[in-house]
Amino acid sequence: MVSSEAAPLAKTGGLADVVGSLPAALQACGDDVAVLIPRYGSIALKGLRRVFDHLPVRLGSARYDCSLYQAPGEFPFYLLDCPPLYGRKGLYGESGVDYPDNHIRFAVFCRAALAVARGVFKTDVFHCHDWQAGLVPAYLQTFAGDPTFLGVKTLFTIHNLGYQGLFPKTILPEVGLDAALFRSDGFEFFGNVSYIKSGIAFAGAISTVSPAYAREIQTPEYGFGLDGILRSRAGVLSGILNGVDYRDWNPETDQFIPARFSAHDLGGKRVCKERLLAELGLPPEAIGRPLLGIVSRFTRQKGVELIAEIAADIVAQDVCLVALGAGDPKCEESFLRMAAEFPGRIAARIGFDNALAHRIEAGADMFLMPSRYEPSGLNQMYSLKYGTVPVVRATGGLDDTIEEGAGFKFREYSGAALLEAVRAALEAFENPGAWREMMLRGMAKEFSWKTSAAAYSALYQRLLGRP
Ligand code: ADP
Repeated sequence: MVSSEAAPLAKTGGLADVVGSLPAALQACGDDVAVLIPRYGSIALKGLRRVFDHLPVRLGSARYDCSLYQAPGEFPFYLLDCPPLYGRKGLYGESGVDYPDNHIRFAVFCRAALAVARGVFKTDVFHCHDWQAGLVPAYLQTFAGDPTFLGVKTLFTIHNLGYQGLFPKTILPEVGLDAALFRSDGFEFFGNVSYIKSGIAFAGAISTVSPAYAREIQTPEYGFGLDGILRSRAGVLSGILNGVDYRDWNPETDQFIPARFSAHDLGGKRVCKERLLAELGLPPEAIGRPLLGIVSRFTRQKGVELIAEIAADIVAQDVCLVALGAGDPKCEESFLRMAAEFPGRIAARIGFDNALAHRIEAGADMFLMPSRYEPSGLNQMYSLKYGTVPVVRATGGLDDTIEEGAGFKFREYSGAALLEAVRAALEAFENPGAWREMMLRGMAKEFSWKTSAAAYSALYQRLLGRP
């Protein structure tokens, strides 16, 4: 697996959760898996084992001195070290600004993946994740005659089509890409180089992280301009829902929450709610009223503006809202403004805080995900397990995972539609018996990796032409 993130070492979103937990599930299917990510500045060398010196990576006329480390764990987890490129504070940028050399950073990363496959971990299938790994299939085209890669296949998984890795054409010589592949059925995208399109155009198979999103990205509404090429590759495109790692997300064993609970004994959930209210400075009297939770990257994708639109209406229903997130400064400000306007009702925490994310999942009664689009979404699945009833927009993985009776869905992307769904949830909350039934239905749902890993494993076998 070639990925820019893998939990727990490097995470900004769901991609990390997937690459952090899928390998072990694949091992259980009998697959032999290794993972490669860059060693970012935030990953300490202490505890890592140096396994390869001077991995040769040449791009155009430049040479990058890379080495390879391995993290301890159940499977070979490799980290590509090249301090001038990756030894920085952020993964992709700082203070909301992308690093200007991301095209080089992730080109070197992809070329290094080939070198790793040549010298360290011989692979049958490169499973490439998102645009940061999108050049692997293009480079493999260039090395088509190389016996090392004879019969080697590629799977490209789209976790989010909204991030594409777009760069001007002038980078071509710098990143050692074959100019002959700069064409509309290759990695050319309206005159620019698109790393994600390289993955889509040249991979042997493409997958995305839910069946609904696999259909949606073939339409102009959700296709970000790539719906055409995705339709042309529909025959090799499939949707495999993300699984949840229930070792990390389980209210019966969760070490981050103040009290544990289960479907048989929900008592701990009330403790979690009490403590969460106190932690976020909300009044203890709110314990009897619905508490809405949000944990999200703050971007336009996640529907932050819809929440701002209905904040006053929610508060008017004598309801509290807690939000944790970071990202787009405008979205962050929007939440801080809501918190300032409705003290004692709305609390916002800006930042990335895994422990607090767990405490919100455990302590809230409802979880809001009004996403504009949502490839898979994990938080709604975590919410189900924690008896926190999801209120979601019916799109992508949210539509696939939230069924009537375990959550609330709305279709139109508007504040009015969201408010209607929230109102329905609040009304249901007033009937404690029925609400409890609803919580229990959600808690009984399983989105474990077992099914999804088997689907990936079957896909690898199909790619390799094995029955
Ligand atoms: P996406 O990949 O689009 O960010 P997902 O719902 O698939 O959305 O995954 C988000 C993951 O990132 C979840 O594990 C969620 O708990 C975590 N997460 C997002 N924002 C934060 C934050 N500010 N603090 C802690 N965890 C966060």
